[in-house]
Amino acid sequence: MSTPIEQIKAKLDIVELIQSHLKLEKAGSNFKGRCPFHQEKTPSFFVSPARQMWHCFGCQKGGDHFQFIQELENVEFADALRILAERTGIELKKEDPQARSERNRFYNLLEEAVLFYESNLARRTDVRDYLRERGLKDEVVKQFRIGYAEPKWEALLEHLISKGFKNDEVEKTGLVIKKESGESRYYDRFRARVMFPLSDSSGRVVGFTGRIFAKDGENQKDADAKYINTPQTPFYDKSKLLYGFDRAKSEIRRKNYAVLVEGQMDVCMSHQAGVTNAVAVSGTALTGSHLVSLRRLADQLRFSFDMDRAGLLAARKGIDLAIREGFDVKAVILPDGEDPADVIKREPEEWKRAVSSARPFIEFYLDIIRSKIKDEREFRNKVIKHVLPYVADLASDVERAHWIKEMAGRLLLSEEPLWNDLNRIISARKNSKKEDRPDPGADNSKTRKDLIEERILGLLVSTGKDNLPSIADCRGDWFSPARRAMFNIIGAGSAIDDHYIKKLALASELAYADAENIDLEMKQLLKNLKKEFLREKLEETSLKIRQAEREGSNDALIVSLDEFKRFSEELNREQ
Ligand SMILES: [Zn+2]
Repeated sequence: MSTPIEQIKAKLDIVELIQSHLKLEKAGSNFKGRCPFHQEKTPSFFVSPARQMWHCFGCQKGGDHFQFIQELENVEFADALRILAERTGIELKKEDPQARSERNRFYNLLEEAVLFYESNLARRTDVRDYLRERGLKDEVVKQFRIGYAEPKWEALLEHLISKGFKNDEVEKTGLVIKKESGESRYYDRFRARVMFPLSDSSGRVVGFTGRIFAKDGENQKDADAKYINTPQTPFYDKSKLLYGFDRAKSEIRRKNYAVLVEGQMDVCMSHQAGVTNAVAVSGTALTGSHLVSLRRLADQLRFSFDMDRAGLLAARKGIDLAIREGFDVKAVILPDGEDPADVIKREPEEWKRAVSSARPFIEFYLDIIRSKIKDEREFRNKVIKHVLPYVADLASDVERAHWIKEMAGRLLLSEEPLWNDLNRIISARKNSKKEDRPDPGADNSKTRKDLIEERILGLLVSTGKDNLPSIADCRGDWFSPARRAMFNIIGAGSAIDDHYIKKLALASELAYADAENIDLEMKQLLKNLKKEFLREKLEETSLKIRQAEREGSNDALIVSLDEFKRFSEELNREQ
């Protein structure tokens, strides 16, 4: 009996799977498309039906069915397995029943809590009226599963116990708090609050945000906290979760941008208004993990924040991070003092317009500074200090040139001093941090010999050794140790089930698609490999010669000189 993984792969062709998520076109016996995981104009994302694998030669991501879903949906392997099992109708056996049942009980418990809060809301006309007053339609309240926590100390706890859950299980979800005083009793964390369930990227509820409902909340001891959140739990990490992400992700991918708003209400209202690529952080600032999830789906972020308050200051850190992550960042401009929810309540179309006419962040920031500072000199200093660093963050020279020109115009300066300042910032950064991340596309660590070896292995797998008579002359020790064993296994006619090998085969297939005589190509590769091998040997031997001279060891010297002569004669024959 084959495993569920094998069954899924047998039932669902990888081309069909990937094609259901992005556009592919035929390229010989393979398929190609624009990579969903990095920005590119010409396709370097390939799918091989023969090998049932995909690989992007731009960002070097690749793998099988499961890795594709993991990357695309931003989920762990277990979730990718579940998603594909559902799609193919393959039944999964229980693996690790202990962990699985614990996790399932956790999700079931939270689901029970959502239903409980929803049923409370159904009874409370006044709370529903309040939500309507804020502008939320009933169907959106239902969609986002908004509920209500009554101003009672043990209402939820009692309900969950009656459903068969234990005190410590409920405590683990963060829904109750353990009393500090002696006897071991618990009370509900959320009381007199409108409850917004927080879902993970596949839509399962993992926590809550509760907003105080003033009418009930007066006598609650935490009433001064307008919003409270579920604390960190094994299944809820606020530094990773984005509110609304599960509902927004496909639209974020389609539009190639996400709209970042400040609160749950903004997200719900935005979706109600038809801008369904809106998400929000909850209970934390924007983190690198949030940005990683978004980066997989989009190249651009549009921030909407309140310019009046500390809003801009709070958003700055997130914006800095996003720009450094390579996002194209834009600002959604709203009337002073209004948040998205206000605007949408008044006029949904105005929100749509504001989002679609978002402006480049640097331009927006220049305007803000200009509107606050009248003195020219001070303006100039502020811009150089605060805006120029953003220009330095931009990856594209064309973009940089554009903004230098724009700034020079606004500051009534020539471009030259700005370029000087910009270059100073850039070189200061280079000196201060050496761990500059390498371009994922360009692997500079590979030598010419590495590349030749990879081509040979790839060609060997994609063409088969029966079609490559010249391979008979190839010696395993010509390869570097990393690939020697691979050559021996493949050369002996065995298959290696490994993404690295499959990727090499795909690359060779693409590179030699038009080759007329494939064995001739192989012959040339082998000749080059042998030359590289001999050059390496010559280098090694000359080191040995120098060492023997230093140590005065005559015997070693004679042996090494002899070796050197042999290798260089051999190399001369190959030239
Ligand atoms: Zn890619």
